[in-house]
Amino acid sequence: FLPHLVASMEEVEETYIMVKPDGVQRGLVGEIISRFEKKGFLLKGLKLFQCPKDLAEEHYKDLKGKSFFPKLIDYITSGPVVCMAWEGVGVVASARKLIGATNPLQAEPGTIRGDLAVQTGRNVVHGSDSPDNGKREIDLWFKEGEVVQWTQAQAPWLRE
Ligand code: GDP
Ligand code: MG
Repeated sequence: FLPHLVASMEEVEETYIMVKPDGVQRGLVGEIISRFEKKGFLLKGLKLFQCPKDLAEEHYKDLKGKSFFPKLIDYITSGPVVCMAWEGVGVVASARKLIGATNPLQAEPGTIRGDLAVQTGRNVVHGSDSPDNGKREIDLWFKEGEVVQWTQAQAPWLRE
């Protein structure tokens, strides 16, 4: 039993990251996975998936009243997406930083959207905005058994 792991366990979070259809079509899947993998987060779930309309609407239910909502649903269901569950201390906020601002023209260079996209309606990747939404979205997009609990061999080299 490792006491130093107990303290950090309190802050362990999960986030739902998704390569949107434009990212898949543009061949950016490997590049995007790589950003989170190299950072040192733990990949717990991964699949290529054609999103049905009802799931897209549930995922983005908070945006239902927005004028762009129909376009957003068409976009997300327009081709396969890559669904990912990532775990780590502070992973929710860190992933949002790695992803960058919603509008890729305002996203900092070095972020995924800042480096790889030019328009809000084609911003290549999704990331949960809170730990609660991370859990909610992972439950929504993954079936039981699709999320795997495991320990990285590099764990002691990432956290003291
Ligand atoms: P995010 O958390 O940075 O992804 O941004 P939001 O939660 O505000 O919006 C969800 C997604 O809806 C964005 O990533 C965009 O794909 C899309 N979206 C948001 N605002 C607009 C908009 O003004 N126009 C269009 N076409 N899409 C938008
Ligand atoms: Mg959002």
